[in-house]
Amino acid sequence: MRVDIISLFPSMFKGPFEESIIKRAREKSLLEIHLHNLREFATDTHRTVDDTPFGGGAGMVMKVEPIYRVLNYIKENLKKRIKVVLLSPQGKTLNQDIAFELVKEENIILICGRYEGVDERVREYLIDEELSIGDYVLSGGEIAAMVVVDAMARLLPGAVGDERSVKEDSFSRPLLDYAQYTRPVEFMGWKVPEVLRSGNHQKIGEWRIKNMLKKTLRNRPDLLEKANLTLEEKRWLEEIKKTLNLNS
Ligand code: SAM
Repeated sequence: MRVDIISLFPSMFKGPFEESIIKRAREKSLLEIHLHNLREFATDTHRTVDDTPFGGGAGMVMKVEPIYRVLNYIKENLKKRIKVVLLSPQGKTLNQDIAFELVKEENIILICGRYEGVDERVREYLIDEELSIGDYVLSGGEIAAMVVVDAMARLLPGAVGDERSVKEDSFSRPLLDYAQYTRPVEFMGWKVPEVLRSGNHQKIGEWRIKNMLKKTLRNRPDLLEKANLTLEEKRWLEEIKKTLNLNS
């Protein structure tokens, strides 16, 4: 998969893209990342990429022409179908389903906004999708682009050492992941649940699903409606509600 990122601050990506899973995915050629400095696509002597908003108001708006030029540059070089995504707090919120969809693409361009955002014509004429990483406003799209790339990278077959960890992650099924423990068995009197050390895989599996149900019920009850629970899981959920003193 190839990801082209358009940004005014491409050096921000250095650290995060040179560590861990993203680094490994790049080294294995599962992921190719190309950074483009938008300023290089401004044509005036001052390399202007922003201007004041028509109608007045606070801040500056990113101009459409440099974005148009950099997109053409990437598309001409690639000559393949490319999905163009604008990072924006006004977009659809990224979730695991969207990450699974994105990772099916061979080529993606991520546009990072800055200032008050981009000239609306970028949205109207130049992009396929607008993506947000949550209901809050960041100062720029760079960190959002890193989040999108990270979420996609771990889904690329071969990027994560043990594929099971991706399959069992939170949201792979709309449930939060179960609790994990490692050595020591006891620390400051805090013990690892006995069942996880029993070696009984059926019991461990049952404990983990119950733990997922409990965590989801406590932190993200909205997910349970979409979780498509089996009859047994529904029964366990009712039992958990009783122990937590919640009404069913
Ligand atoms: N005035 C804009 C608005 O309210 O929609 C916000 C502009 S924000 C300060 C500058 C840039 O940061 C945006 O163009 C976008 O690229 C990025 N950004 C901010 N919040 C984001 C979010 N939640 N998800 C993705 N990108 C975000």
